[in-house]
Amino acid sequence: MKIAILSRNKNLYSTRRLVEACEERGHEAHIIDILKCYMDITPSKPAMWYKGEQLEDFDAVIPRIGASVTHYGLAVIRQFEMMGVYCLTESVALGRSRDKLRALQLLSRKGIGLPRTSFAHNVHNTKELIKLVGGAPLVVKLCEGTQGRGVVLAETAKAAESVIEAFRELRAEFLVQEFIKEAGGSDIRCLVIGNKVVAAMQRTAPDGEFRSNLHRGGSAQLIKLNPNERSTAIKAAQTMGLKIAGVDVLRSSRGPLIMEVNSSPGLEGIEGATNKDVAGAIIKFIEENARPHANRTKGK
Ligand code: ADP
Ligand code: GLU
Repeated sequence: MKIAILSRNKNLYSTRRLVEACEERGHEAHIIDILKCYMDITPSKPAMWYKGEQLEDFDAVIPRIGASVTHYGLAVIRQFEMMGVYCLTESVALGRSRDKLRALQLLSRKGIGLPRTSFAHNVHNTKELIKLVGGAPLVVKLCEGTQGRGVVLAETAKAAESVIEAFRELRAEFLVQEFIKEAGGSDIRCLVIGNKVVAAMQRTAPDGEFRSNLHRGGSAQLIKLNPNERSTAIKAAQTMGLKIAGVDVLRSSRGPLIMEVNSSPGLEGIEGATNKDVAGAIIKFIEENARPHANRTKGK
């Protein structure tokens, strides 16, 4: 197969592993920088161009789109979809996962466990927002943050009001969320491919921190999921329409709660913690599923 890996940096661990896995399994891998793609948007024969050449005959595209280039990345994926090329991550699914509010609303519609979350536009609703999630302690999160940036724990109602007001001043969109104390500074990253969890790790925050992101010094170890956690993670990925997803789960006293569904999950932490060949599993899934015009969504 001829596989395009949409990545801005060929030296990233995840990009390198995907190239390696393609080659090990006898495929041709091309790394494509999305920002250097340009498109011919025409009803007769939509096309994609790259460095003066047309991108043709690809059997599959693996989007690895950074949060800062989501908008252009979505247009590039949509164009491949119009061309009938199989996209491992479809544009609609990526768009859903990049908008935390939209993602939580879609998950809630399916009855998937979530931390109680409130959202408002108007400044006069601050106290109500806090009340809706059961008061302090609570977490305030920027809708467009990544890697734990813009996620703040407010221990008291007063602190919560100050944080909310500060975010409002900055004109940032944010969610207010119940703090899941019993998670104890840990969360579980489930790597879902198709209808399976292929690897899972527990991430634990360093002392004095509640955010367990590996980028913030969290540590990772292999963990065994219970059947409820497993099926919740799979259902969350499917609700977003993601064929590959990094689903973040908090263990609460009322069962697994979904915090976030990531559409371009990093492979380094999870392969390191679990010793599993996740990149190989991704390419195997593509072998089994990639067909022309097989995308579920066509960019709408
Ligand atoms: P990001 O997308 O920036 O990683 P997250 O929403 O995943 O932001 O939050 C970062 C970390 O903060 C999580 O991995 C988790 O450890 C912690 N956290 C986030 N929300 C909650 C919550 N409601 N209760 C307890 N811990 C939380
Ligand atoms: N047009 C999209 C779809 O049908 C949209 C909506 C959504 O996020 O639910 O898949």
